[in-house]
Parts: sequence; C-alpha cells; structure tokens
Amino acid sequence: MHYYREPFGFVGQQVAVIGAKNSAAKAALDCYRHGAKVTMVVRGRQIADSVKYWIKPDLKNRIKERSIVAYFDTVVEEILERSLKLRSPDGPIDIDNDFVLAMTGYQPDFGFLESLGITFADDAWRTPVYDARTFETARPGIHLAGTVCGGLRTNRWFIENGRFHARQIARHLAGLRTDTCASRIVKCRVDPAIGRCCAVREICPALTRVKEDAALASASGRSDREVGVSMR
Ligand SMILES: Cc1cc2nc3c(=O)[nH]c(=O)nc-3n(C[C@H](O)[C@H](O)[C@H](O)COP(=O)(O)OP(=O)(O)OC[C@H]3O[C@@H](n4cnc5c(N)ncnc54)[C@H](O)[C@@H]3O)c2cc1C
Repeated sequence: MHYYREPFGFVGQQVAVIGAKNSAAKAALDCYRHGAKVTMVVRGRQIADSVKYWIKPDLKNRIKERSIVAYFDTVVEEILERSLKLRSPDGPIDIDNDFVLAMTGYQPDFGFLESLGITFADDAWRTPVYDARTFETARPGIHLAGTVCGGLRTNRWFIENGRFHARQIARHLAGLRTDTCASRIVKCRVDPAIGRCCAVREICPALTRVKEDAALASASGRSDREVGVSMR
C-alpha cells in the first residue's frame, strides 16, 4: 500500500513500514499507537535527518524500547501473502507480516504535465516553468498550484506556503493585480544557538521588489498606495 490514510484497518495486525522519512515515521507511530505490531524496514543507517524534530525522538524511543522493531541497512527482497523476506547486513530475515506500507516518496506525473504543454526548467528537479506571481504555465490558461510546483522537490511546497497559490490564481483569472507573490518559501534550519530547528522565511524576488518600492515611496514622501504597492 503506497497511500496511508488511517490506522484503523491495521489494529491487531502486523504492519511493515518501508522508509525512514516523515511519512514513514508518522505512519509507524500512528499504527503502533492504534494497536498494530509495527516493523520498520530502512535501507539507510538511521531515521532521516529531515524527520520533524518533535516526531523523531518519539520514534527513536519507540525503536529503542522495541515497541517498534526497526531493521536498518535492510531492504525488502520479497513480499509474500503472510510474510516478508528481508536482506540485512546479518543475512536474510523472514518476518510474519499482514500489511506493507511503502512510504518511499512520490513524484509528479510528468507525462500528464507534458501532455498539457507544460515546460520544465533545465534543473535537477524538472521544476515546471510558471509565472511566480500568477502561477500560469507556458501554456496560457493552465496554472499550477501546490506541491507540483516543485517538480521532484515534493517537500518544497506544503500547506503553509502552498495555500496562497489558489488565491493568486483566482486573482489572475479575475483580472486583478498579482503584484505580491505567494512564493514565500519557508526553510528549516538548525539554529546553533538553540540547537533545534527554526523556521527561516525567504521572501520571493517579487515581494522583495514590492518592499523596495515601498521603501522608495517612503523615502520620496509618497504613500505606498500612490506608487501602487500592495503588501500583505
Ligand atoms: C504524511 C504526510 C504528512 C504531512 N504533514 C504536513 C504537515 O504537517 N504540514 C504541512 O504543511 N504539510 C504536510 N504535508 C504536505 C501536505 O500534505 C502537502 O503539501 C499538501 O497536501 C499539498 O497539497 P496539494 O494540493 O499540492 O496536493 P495534494 O494534497 O496531493 O492534492 C492533489 C490532488 O490532485 C489529485 N490528482 C492528482 N492527479 C490528478 C489528475 N490527473 N486528475 C485529477 N486529480 C488529480 C489527487 O488525487 C489529489 O486529490 C504532509 C504530507 C504527507 C504525505
């Protein structure tokens, strides 16, 4: 199963979760807390660094106390009706199992996007080309919104910074100004001073331009409104 929604079908069942990033971490903890017997199969050495800082210790402690069993450096060789065959550094392992949650990531349907006439940047992520303010693509009348805007970087746009896209698109379709940009990118960085993650906001170039216009207006004694600046 590649899409995890809720734990209730897994109560009392043996569930293998493949992966070690946020989706895997959340699914494993959720299933465990709703009465499933959870085994994690992780091809790397550890739970991913990108797992949210308030989830990671919970998962690591459940693994440490063996409430959740985790096999690291281990891959799934075969999925059978009632068991799994694993390949670990210590050799083959067979485990009894009822369900497999393959939380191994996803990517956009590029074929579908191409068929619409959408073009892509020449970068490693096949980022779709779109106007950063209106979200209209190279194919007039087709806009992109949400996670798909990041191409293969499916962690670039999420709820907090993607929910503004629809508003920009609606404004564009209605013929209203879109001179403020929705592209507020929130990055997570570990702040050495406090030793944990803190959100760092990057303001998009269009918004920076708007701010510069506002500063210019202020320096020239005119109001923001007079120079047509709209800021949220
Ligand atoms: C486990 C997990 C935990 C997360 N936790 C957080 C969190 O704590 N905070 C946060 O901000 N974000 C979180 N996210 C990310 C967040 O869920 C996404 O960023 C957000 O849902 C993206 O919205 P979207 O509209 O771009 O895409 P989606 O929500 O994926 O919506 C896309 C929709 O398009 C439909 N669709 C796809 N192809 C077609 C087609 N050809 N025709 C018609 N419809 C189609 C799909 O069925 C789907 O309904 C999490 C994601 C996951 C997987």
